Amino acid sequence: RLDQQLKEINHFTVKMAKSTEVKIAVFGRAGVGKSALVVRFLTKRFIWEYDPTLESTYRHQTTMEDEIVTMELLDTAGQEDPLLREGHIRWGDGFVIVYDITDRGSFEDVMYFKNLLDDVKKPKNVTFILVGNKADLTHSRQVSTEEGERLAADLSCAFYECSACTGEGNITEAFYELCREIRRR
Ligand code: GDP
Ligand code: MG
Repeated sequence: RLDQQLKEINHFTVKMAKSTEVKIAVFGRAGVGKSALVVRFLTKRFIWEYDPTLESTYRHQTTMEDEIVTMELLDTAGQEDPLLREGHIRWGDGFVIVYDITDRGSFEDVMYFKNLLDDVKKPKNVTFILVGNKADLTHSRQVSTEEGERLAADLSCAFYECSACTGEGNITEAFYELCREIRRR
């Protein structure tokens, strides 16, 4: 019995030693649904209103290839001063850039955020994914799926179109894919 227990403890220790932390920051114009997406990923629920000025961090633990992975998520709130933002970018190992498919301006902002990330992380390559949110609002769509795909191809990143509201578009997979990509680096 003791032998068995020791074996288990040993196994656990090995697992812990291998455990890693992955820091992910979510960027995008105010109102694109950053908070809604993060909360959907963490709780599988949608809450209509969040304080848009609130910035939060969350921890989410998962197992990947037999390793414990702790994801730290930073839901940014924009409008902050440039120094704070730069700190957020330095902090992050990987990023989610979000736009709203019903807001062309938010799509145009993607390049702005990408350039910010590049500036702070250079000469390193930035690990990120592109997410087009609010896919449920098809009647007021301003950015086509193809445009999103094309931009992602230009930027060599994974692309997901989804809705934090309905849960369509595999938001979980998006966050996990980013996590895997960070770990491959
Ligand atoms: P943030 O400023 O980027 O954090 O955006 P929020 O998460 O606060 O969302 C802004 C507004 O968009 C809120 O009124 C949300 O209810 C709404 N919203 C967020 N995601 C979706 C979505 O996928 N579909 C729809 N219809 N509304 C959404
Ligand atoms: Mg928010």
